[in-house]
Amino acid sequence: MTEMTCDDWQELLGDLVAGELAGDVVVVFEHHLCGCPPCVTKLELYRATISLSRCLHCHPEPLPPAFAAKLRRVLLSADG
Ligand SMILES: [Zn+2]
Repeated sequence: MTEMTCDDWQELLGDLVAGELAGDVVVVFEHHLCGCPPCVTKLELYRATISLSRCLHCHPEPLPPAFAAKLRRVLLSADG
């Protein structure tokens, strides 16, 4: 396997959260996360986005404006 960059790992976040990565890949991924706060932040955001979209699915009311604004800020600041 060639060396994985943060971009490579972040492309796999969806598979990690969905439990679709092979066990040995998960071990290497978690090892990377131990030393890489930016990837941990991306992972947390990814999980938050997923639980939020599930939540919206059950409760289709609009988000409170203050929360929506905060979420948008977090997502934008984490971009790139
Ligand atoms: Zn990383």
